[in-house]
Amino acid sequence: MIQVGVVGYGTIGKRVADAVVAQRDMEIVGVAKTSPNFEAETAVSKGYNLHAAVEERRELFDDAGIPVAGDLDDLVEAADVIVDATPSGIGAQNRDVYEAHDTPAIYQGGEDADVADTSFNARANYEDAIGADHVRVVSCNTTGLSRLLAPLREEYGVEKARVTLVRRGGDPGQTGRGPIDDILPDPVSLPSHHGPDVKTIFPDISIDTLGLKVPATLMHMHSVNVTLESDADAEAVRDLLAEESRTFLVPGYAGIDGSGKLKEFALDSGRSRGDVWENCIWADSIAIRGNDLYLFQAIHQESDVVPENVDAIRAITDSASKAESIATTNETLGMGL
Ligand code: NAD
Repeated sequence: MIQVGVVGYGTIGKRVADAVVAQRDMEIVGVAKTSPNFEAETAVSKGYNLHAAVEERRELFDDAGIPVAGDLDDLVEAADVIVDATPSGIGAQNRDVYEAHDTPAIYQGGEDADVADTSFNARANYEDAIGADHVRVVSCNTTGLSRLLAPLREEYGVEKARVTLVRRGGDPGQTGRGPIDDILPDPVSLPSHHGPDVKTIFPDISIDTLGLKVPATLMHMHSVNVTLESDADAEAVRDLLAEESRTFLVPGYAGIDGSGKLKEFALDSGRSRGDVWENCIWADSIAIRGNDLYLFQAIHQESDVVPENVDAIRAITDSASKAESIATTNETLGMGL
């Protein structure tokens, strides 16, 4: 059993911990947090050993009556692999601790690419992470774009991708984020960071990305245009994307007109936290004009990277092939809406 420690038990970390528990070949050795908040309480109630990530803040847990199993060093020493899901920039600071214990670590997309030996998307470059010491799972948006571009590249070749990302202002729990009544080009000047981030997965791809931030919390929406290198028709692209295990083609008959109904569908389907791990591509939006492909896809920022982290654990510990890992993760999580 691979012993997994999760450092940073927030939006991403708590989901990764639960996904690890669902696997047959790994278990949670503990989680580390800085604040004794409601998430700390649920970690304990789920039976996770809770570690105080910052020694000076340990007494806050004692004051709140939340039992602490140890400190960060204890967790890193006990773990075969760490998933660091701390806020952007903290993972890079923690890297020295992981190195001191010789414990391989997986970081998230908020970190700069140079924190790791390789950036990671299971569909696109699983093998690059096999046996690495430091791996970065790319951001939610880059994950969504990598899953889409990988099969298109293989089947048709990609001459140029142009993507406008309509991004949620904040996650549902992020009360301090915005905008609450505005539409913000973010950033104003080309490119948004997503295009360069996609290049950490596909170094040779030509891609321009533009970003907007809007008053929404549920999901991101991508308006995609990909110029293909060879002929395609919409039906064939639909079939190609339908065969992918982490894309969900939203059928026209379903009456799903946006991210609100997608989340409702996920909740009705019994998904924990209403999570949507798959890229949600509107089947009827897939269109071809000349060599240009167009489509809309929605990305659930809080959860699409979760199966990728599970696969990254197997890659970094060299414990399964790409195909085995993806199949196991999909089956245990219940992928496929
Ligand atoms: P979050 O703020 O929800 O959770 C971070 C957790 O880390 C919190 O529980 C916080 O208390 C804890 N923490 C803070 N400092 C710490 C420290 N020094 N040691 C240990 N724990 C510490 O953040 P998040 O949204 O889960 O983001 C985590 C990472 O995942 C970031 O790199 C982010 O860019 C990336 N990411 C976020 C999303 C998203 O939409 N939320 C999507 C994909 C990737």
